[in-house]
Amino acid sequence: MRWWGWGEDGHAVALPPAAEALLRDELGADPEARRPPVGLDEVSLPESRLPAAAGERLAAALGGEHMRDEREERIGHAVGRSYPDLVRIRAGDASSAPDAVLRPASAEQVAAVLAACAEHGVAVVPFGGGTSVVGGVEPVRDGRDAAVSLDLGRLDSTVEVDRTSLTARLDAGLFGPEAERRLASEGVTLGHFPQSFEYSTVGGWVATRSAGQASTGYGRIDELVEAVRCVTPAGEIGTRAVPASAAGPSTRELLVGSEGVLGVICEATVRVRPAPAYRRYEGWSFASFAEGCDAFRVMEQAEASADVNRLSDEAETSLSMALASSGSRAEGLGRRYLRLRGHERGCIAIVGFEGEEDEAERRRRHTAALLRAGGGISIGPRPGAAWLRSRYSGPYLRDELLDRRVMVETLETATSWSNLASLHGAVAEALRTALGGRGTPPLVMCHVSHLYPSGASLYFTFLARQEDDALEQWRVAKTAASEAIVAGGGTITHHHAIGRDHRQWMRAEVGELGIELIRAAKERLDPAGIMNPGKLLP
Ligand SMILES: Cc1cc2nc3c(=O)[nH]c(=O)nc-3n(C[C@H](O)[C@H](O)[C@H](O)COP(=O)(O)OP(=O)(O)OC[C@H]3O[C@@H](n4cnc5c(N)ncnc54)[C@H](O)[C@@H]3O)c2cc1C
Repeated sequence: MRWWGWGEDGHAVALPPAAEALLRDELGADPEARRPPVGLDEVSLPESRLPAAAGERLAAALGGEHMRDEREERIGHAVGRSYPDLVRIRAGDASSAPDAVLRPASAEQVAAVLAACAEHGVAVVPFGGGTSVVGGVEPVRDGRDAAVSLDLGRLDSTVEVDRTSLTARLDAGLFGPEAERRLASEGVTLGHFPQSFEYSTVGGWVATRSAGQASTGYGRIDELVEAVRCVTPAGEIGTRAVPASAAGPSTRELLVGSEGVLGVICEATVRVRPAPAYRRYEGWSFASFAEGCDAFRVMEQAEASADVNRLSDEAETSLSMALASSGSRAEGLGRRYLRLRGHERGCIAIVGFEGEEDEAERRRRHTAALLRAGGGISIGPRPGAAWLRSRYSGPYLRDELLDRRVMVETLETATSWSNLASLHGAVAEALRTALGGRGTPPLVMCHVSHLYPSGASLYFTFLARQEDDALEQWRVAKTAASEAIVAGGGTITHHHAIGRDHRQWMRAEVGELGIELIRAAKERLDPAGIMNPGKLLP
């Protein structure tokens, strides 16, 4: 992945002309304003401060070619992929870059690296794909002289499928596409497709409790993980690959979501399913977000949800329709029909079914009946197919928007069904007030994308004209939204994790004693405090 953005060089996604007009008219963005990333040689990077003795031991443990301190390597591991990360790295700030990048090829090499780093007091930051959007992979030295990035990309050889039990043992460094390609060759799928799928890893998913676009159907990663193998500075913990256990509190649960602060997840045994032979994605319209949410709730509580379920609010719907508009006669007729049915400011939903054709179609009919009863109007397979085609393209557009000095950020939460509308309103209002008060009123939009019998997630996207002090503008918006989430009864994160950026709200999430409990586990597993300092715990 290129060091300043998403994807690889040469894979640019152009902004549609409708988007240009929208940025100008809605945000007041200057169409001529540009802030491209600086060149690699202009990035300011401190000298590596890795103590020579530590360097010698690490090189001996890994082989010299797998311990790198070249400029591009260190810059490429300096930050994750959040908006503030990208603002800083594009401006040439790699001040917290690791002093070296280490690439172990086995759990034994990971153990040797941790032993050497503990002895020399060097901080270790596990690095999967580096797609964290909460500051999870940026080194924080916390009083230590040096930090290394532990890139797990070489832990990528094992994909061992048990077809009878429908489980698979996966190495942590496997990237999404490679893991799915190898599972598909055995006729199975994990069904885990976060939007960052192309550039994130199995270990990163497990370490952050990630959710994929189809997680309502397949389950979140924390529901799919049966066992983990984790190397900590104090030794290795392996949990047992059994379908269920009553053996006390779950150590697997402690390690899943541990964000690299306890140890390095080297391998996970996950539940898989037969690869779907059939897929059908389609669009629905609802008169309002409130009506759509209620229909989704009824569908979920009747155990009739699709595998993918997304409901955009009015703002997200109107933006995506403006961007996708072809101006064709058929589209005009379709809109007229929806207007006549009272859906002129309606909300679009996408529902997607995967599996064996008969079974998926049976589920689809049941879901359709419930959505129709909830006021939904089917708008056919075309919107579903379009969503499926472009499900990974959003992050490429973000680079274009940053070039044009547009702030674009996302945040997410989850709450109960009874609180969903109130939290949706409170977070959107907090963002509008925080940014509007600074003279850069935002476009705030949201969708529901993960359903549970008791509630759902809310995923906000907001755009605003970028101010000169882009980081302060972001900080004000992020703080306002996070405070609104906590005060409004939501979780500070449904799937992005805590990292550095949500740390200050961790106490509100688990309480003082909860923090002490996690800290006690860390002190036992990582007595020298080298594992990803400055993350997860306040
Ligand atoms: C454009 C974009 C879209 C995204 N979409 C989604 C989405 O749909 N759903 C979602 O859940 N998230 C999403 N994310 C967030 C991010 O992709 C996830 O958190 C993902 O799980 C991180 O995986 P990674 O391999 O990139 O981990 P990294 O970013 O490398 O690491 C994340 C954290 O886990 C730790 N870590 C990584 N690997 C290990 C390991 N093997 N052992 C111990 N600790 C480890 C790191 O130290 C860090 O704290 C998105 C991010 C971006 C930029």
